[in-house]
Amino acid sequence: MNTKMLSPREVIDEAIRAWRQHPDAISFNQVEGFVRQILGWREYMRGVYWAQMPEFEHTNSLQHTRKLPGWYWTGDTKMNCLSHAVNQSLDLAYAHHIQRLMITGNFALILGAHPDEVDAWYLGVYIDAIQWVEITNTRGMSQRADGGLIATKPYCSSANYINKMSDYCRSCHYDPKKRTGERACPFNSLYWDFLDRHRERFAGNFRMKMMYRAWERKGSEEQVAILERAAWVKEHVEEL
Ligand SMILES: Cc1cc2nc3c(=O)[nH]c(=O)nc-3n(C[C@H](O)[C@H](O)[C@H](O)COP(=O)(O)OP(=O)(O)OC[C@H]3O[C@@H](n4cnc5c(N)ncnc54)[C@H](O)[C@@H]3O)c2cc1C
Ligand code: SF4
Repeated sequence: MNTKMLSPREVIDEAIRAWRQHPDAISFNQVEGFVRQILGWREYMRGVYWAQMPEFEHTNSLQHTRKLPGWYWTGDTKMNCLSHAVNQSLDLAYAHHIQRLMITGNFALILGAHPDEVDAWYLGVYIDAIQWVEITNTRGMSQRADGGLIATKPYCSSANYINKMSDYCRSCHYDPKKRTGERACPFNSLYWDFLDRHRERFAGNFRMKMMYRAWERKGSEEQVAILERAAWVKEHVEEL
């Protein structure tokens, strides 16, 4: 579909035809989810691309400037989730949506990587990376470089989400529950640092109010300790 050898209409019609023919083997939820992804997300991204390019390619609304860590190209990191997602992507040229959005994309976002660096990585790594469907997902959905055109809130998270959604944390060098200290998961301090850095932009966002309330509740001593840990993480990002 990305190379236009198949039309999305053909794919959707065929999926619905198969579901009608084999209602016992394919549930309604399955076919609905699949059709929604193609029609709702994939075609939505195509529309955004054609409506917003070429300006979209240069967006960087959060003004992020950092380099993507070198281990995105080697998989050599002690962070188990990232090591797994990066190594798998390098080996298979494939990762599923949550690995792309909530592990590799999330880390680049909360670190503050330049969207050009992020684009170059996704475009270079994935077998399905054709610019019109890659850039809308990276700059728009994942890095929020588009200022919120595609998504209503940034897809950022601490280790809490990754721990809930996977079993990566169980065998990681880092502790998903800790925010400060040598073994504290880097996602945690970077997450709060990201929210603090972009407070003006996001504190008024209805979907983020709870997160900012949780940050305020921490008190200034804990906030300072978390921000110091985040500063250390950013300075030593190649060693994580
Ligand atoms: C940072 C990031 C970068 C991405 N880069 C690409 C890319 O370069 N090329 C690409 O094709 N997809 C990209 N995606 C979208 C999505 O992750 C892949 O299409 C998905 O991994 C395909 O897996 P699946 O077939 O199991 O999807 P399912 O969830 O089963 O969805 C069925 C089909 O719907 C379509 N689809 C679902 N979500 C999306 C979406 N967000 N955007 C476009 N199509 C979607 C795909 O054709 C997919 O095969 C990216 C997502 C993120 C978060
Ligand atoms: S502890 Fe942190 S770095 Fe390790 S797997 Fe969990 S989320 Fe990833």
